[in-house]
Amino acid sequence: MTTIADNITAVAARIASAAQAAGRDSADIGLLAVSKTKPAAAVREAHAAGLRDFGENYLQEALGKQAELTDLPLCWHFIGPIQSNKTRAIAEHFDWVHSVDRLKIAQRLSEQRPANLPPLNICIQVNVSGEASKSGCAPADLPALATAIAGLPNLKLRGLMAIPEPTEDRAAQDAAFAAVRTLQDSLNLPLDTLSMGMSHDLESAIAQGATWVRIGTALFGARDYGQA
Ligand SMILES: *Cc1c(COP(=O)(O)O)cnc(C)c1O
Repeated sequence: MTTIADNITAVAARIASAAQAAGRDSADIGLLAVSKTKPAAAVREAHAAGLRDFGENYLQEALGKQAELTDLPLCWHFIGPIQSNKTRAIAEHFDWVHSVDRLKIAQRLSEQRPANLPPLNICIQVNVSGEASKSGCAPADLPALATAIAGLPNLKLRGLMAIPEPTEDRAAQDAAFAAVRTLQDSLNLPLDTLSMGMSHDLESAIAQGATWVRIGTALFGARDYGQA
């Protein structure tokens, strides 16, 4: 039976070989463990095996796990769709938000970020797959959104996040991730983060400049939404 520690070793090897192929330092690529639908015990096991950053999509589920894990020095990333009525709890309980795609949400996160915490790290989710995706800011709207978010006091705009339409075709993966990078480069802002690449396409994402890969299945196994 493979353990989470075995899976971490295998994913780290994939990251290292993709970085090497791209002439990049693998220390510049963070492994964000996506623990949605998985129990707190799985997060604890992954932490014991060396991981610190965890991504969650569903607020109530995340808050429950965080409450069980207060003894660990974890860094929590919100990566799911955000409704307005969830912004306060997200601003209070997370270190990063990768899925901001409209100004209203960013304004609320900034207003609601507690004064005793450092600025909330933000990535703007951008839609590079057109009508195939309903989440994410349209590329045409990105410059204005990025400039506005960069001016909000309690946020730190770090970069872009994308979830391209899933495909096993490496050339199509490369084209989508390259488009994200080109959008990032076209913004005249000091950004250092590209959150892109999941279990099936991390090699392509790293080749195109990813600094966070968000990995669920390859670390924790397939998700079962049946009893959720
Ligand atoms: C679920 C999820 C992931 C992880 O996907 P895997 O294919 O299981 O690695 C990454 N990013 C986001 C935004 C997700 O919702």
